[in-house]
Amino acid sequence: MATLLNLRDLLQHEIEDLYSAEEQIIEALPKMVEKASDRELKAALTEHLKVTKQQKVRLDKVQQLLKKGTEEDTAQKGFLERMFGGSTKCKGTEGLIKEGEKMMGEEMDSKVMDAAIIASAQKIEHYEISGYGTARAYATQLGLTEVAGLLETTLNEEYKSDDALTTLALGKVNVEAQGKGSKAPKGITNGGGGFGIRAETTTKRENDKTGKGLPSSSSRTGAKSSTSKKTPAKNLSVKKGAAKKAASKKSAKKKASR
Ligand code: FE
Ligand code: FE
Repeated sequence: MATLLNLRDLLQHEIEDLYSAEEQIIEALPKMVEKASDRELKAALTEHLKVTKQQKVRLDKVQQLLKKGTEEDTAQKGFLERMFGGSTKCKGTEGLIKEGEKMMGEEMDSKVMDAAIIASAQKIEHYEISGYGTARAYATQLGLTEVAGLLETTLNEEYKSDDALTTLALGKVNVEAQGKGSKAPKGITNGGGGFGIRAETTTKRENDKTGKGLPSSSSRTGAKSSTSKKTPAKNLSVKKGAAKKAASKKSAKKKASR
């Protein structure tokens, strides 16, 4: 692989990675649709397949825009040809898809299988959200407004798909997968899967509106920056603070006893 010398090179690398991701997802989604039983889940996955095909076309446009303006520079052109030669496979997506296929190969009740399919699909969505968030932030930093806009369109589609899956999981699929014999734990009415995910992605979208354009890690930092006292991240930081206080008290005691 050619040496990446600057942020633009890194952006180009990320775009190629995303292109490979979309190609693999286009292949994987029909298998998930086939394996799903719930009508709404099948429809959501089928719709996302349609959207994903458009996203691949959008990435073609991004690649054209990135090539534009650097064509004069032959060294750069050679680099781009190597970069966009289509030979690199996104290993992250490959792994997530393999994991999902392994899961779908297990013996399961059809309703449990639906819940598992949602979980696999959301792992892929989150990976994409991370990649597109990062790429958009790079494009914004580089002043590539049109590229940033195209990436943001896809990013929002990925959020929308993720949210739709969360709604389906919490409102129906997880509940049905729970089975008749078991009771929901106190305070949880819709099962656990996807709940934290939704809180994070919702927070992230609010961040987006502020125009801060945080990259990949934002879906994680989104939870941290939340003002809600109920978020686990907040509770964690409170616990951390308490532990720190206790430690400093302890050392003060120690000093006093010397
Ligand atoms: Fe996608
Ligand atoms: Fe997607």
